[in-house]
Parts: sequence; structure tokens; C-alpha cells
Amino acid sequence: MKIRDIEVYQVNLPYAGGVYKLSGGRTYTSFDATLVCIRTDTGLEGWGESTPFGPNYIAAHALGVRAGIEEMADMLIGRDPRQVDRINDIMDSTLLGHLHAKAAIDIACWDIFGKAVNLPVCELLGGSTGLSMPIIDSTYAGDPEDMRRRIDATRKQGYLGHSVKVGATPEEGGPALDAARIEASLADARPGEYFIVDCNGGLTVEHALRMLNLLPSGLDFVLEAPCATWREHMALRQKTSIPLIMDELATDEASVLQLIRDDAADGIGMKVSKQGGLTRARRQRDMCLAAGLTMSIQETAGSYVSFASLTHLGQTIPHRNLRCVLDLRDMYTPMTANLDIPVIDGRIRAPLTPGLGIEINRDVIGSPVAIYR
Ligand SMILES: [Mg+2]
Repeated sequence: MKIRDIEVYQVNLPYAGGVYKLSGGRTYTSFDATLVCIRTDTGLEGWGESTPFGPNYIAAHALGVRAGIEEMADMLIGRDPRQVDRINDIMDSTLLGHLHAKAAIDIACWDIFGKAVNLPVCELLGGSTGLSMPIIDSTYAGDPEDMRRRIDATRKQGYLGHSVKVGATPEEGGPALDAARIEASLADARPGEYFIVDCNGGLTVEHALRMLNLLPSGLDFVLEAPCATWREHMALRQKTSIPLIMDELATDEASVLQLIRDDAADGIGMKVSKQGGLTRARRQRDMCLAAGLTMSIQETAGSYVSFASLTHLGQTIPHRNLRCVLDLRDMYTPMTANLDIPVIDGRIRAPLTPGLGIEINRDVIGSPVAIYR
């Protein structure tokens, strides 16, 4: 089987909640999605997606996804998409870094691989655990009581995990506002719920310590991505007993190795496009399993193709290590694909149909913006 052509689509994903606010005053109203269709000489086609969370979340941007694919496309034509590691070798030898561009290609190859052998992608990634995976919401930073209300609304929808964004600038209220946000967000916590306080790398060590010192004892949460640099993260690690999760600093095999070597965190926020696609995420998953880390399986942003791919990765992680998966569907309205994943009691399972288990909605994604053959 050989790759015959690669089509690239661009879709705007307006954020359904209005304005999404992150640490450091970053705001987002819409996300620029790139979808890829790889066609083979057998007629099989596979779909992938890479949607950065804007250009200032990690070193990834939407124009870079499409430019990276253009850079690599020639070298991919004629290759066997089922040889996912070899496809990644070719991408790595053609273009250094730029994992977010490689992710879309890689995911599409896994979709083809699954369809070719009539199995869902999770079976090829190691096998489904059969578990129903708890879903986590994403609560943007805001007024503490408003965050409490928004978390209660998702709780009533069945969500068991809550990702609470903090990181107030000094002008907004600094550590005191962030402490109030955490207290309000956890005020109605119920047994079985899991809280991530996610700073998206926006705090100084001083801010983080002041915020933590303002909190009453006994609040049950993990602190994700407190600081932007490894040095700051390790300084905080030495000064707090709060469980730490790495996200934006753990983006590839090298940084996951460093995380394990330095005992830098107790878990990781794993995002398929951030880690460079399913092939690389599979490797990093196994490294994390060997180290005994917990994993939240998420995406930077993305539509239904990205959502399907993360459910297949999550579906392979044993119960003790899987914290939650992110359901992207309620963040954006455009339904780029149909997929059958009902939420039952706040939990989901990956699709059971071959490949990613999606049916693309061509009327939503429009015409390709580029075709390579
Ligand atoms: Mg995070």
C-alpha cells in the first residue's frame, strides 16, 4: 500500500463558550484547525488533525502545521502509511522538530492502518482496556464564583474531572485571586471528582508559593504546569508537597525522559498533537507507564478527528494510570466528523469501528486548501 495523495483542509473552530482565558492575560475566541486526508493506491483514505491552541500556548501555530505538511509531503508520497514508525523516520529526516505538523500526518496513517486490518486504532496501539474513561472539563479563568457555577454546570452534566485554569496577572489580582479561584472551584467537590489546577506555565515560583500558602489545608487537587521553564518548575518541586503535573514542558520523548530522570512531576498532561502524533504518544505513554506516572489524555485544541484520536490513546491506558480524557466536543460547534461516542455517567469509550471510527462531514470542512500528489 502506498500514499498516493495528501489533501489539506482548514476549518475555523469558534470557541463555544465565548472568550477562553488563560494565564498571563492570553485570550482565545477561535481556533484554526488543519485536517489532513491521506489517500492510498488501494482507495483507502485516512484522516488526521492538528489544531494548536493559538500561537502562544506551545511552540506550535496553525500556519506552521500547513507549512510543515507542505515541506514533508513530497517525501511521503509512495510510502506505506501502515509503517507508522518509518513514516515518522521520514518526517524527522525531512523536517526537524515541528511535531504539530507531523501529528496530523501520523494520525491519518493510523486511521488507514486500522481500516486496512479492520480494527479500531486502540487495538493497534496495544489493545483496549475496555474501561469507560472519565471525562474532564476545561474551566477558563474568571471570577471565582462564576468558575464555581460553571464547574457545577459541568458536574450536573456528569463530568468527574475538572481542569481549573488560573494565572492572574498582578493587575487582575495575582496570587490572591488565584487562591480564591481554587477555593471556589473546589467548594462543592464531591467524592470521586478529580481537580487539576492548571496554570499553563503562567506563574513565577513566587506567585505559585504565595497562592499555595493562601489556601486552607486539605484541598485535594494537583497543580499542572505552574511555570514556563524547567528551572522554575524544579525550584517549585523542591518547595511544595502538592502533586505536580507537567504539560507544556513535556512535549516529546526527550522531555518525558528528563521528567522521569529529574522526578519532576507525578503525572503528565498528554496531548496527541503536542506529543507529535499517536506513534510518539504511544512511546511516551509507555515511558510514563514504566515510571508509574498518571496521565490525562487531552488535546491542545481540535475538532472531532482530534477527539477520536485521543480517545483511542486513552483507551489503552490502564486504570491506575489514567486520570481522565478531554471531551473536545462541547468546546466547539463545527462537527467536522460523525462519531459514535455517547457520554454515560461522565464516561466515554473509544469508537469500535475500524481506524479512528469517524465519518468526515465534507459539507463542514469544505474544499482542500492544498493537494500534494
Ligand atoms: Mg494543561
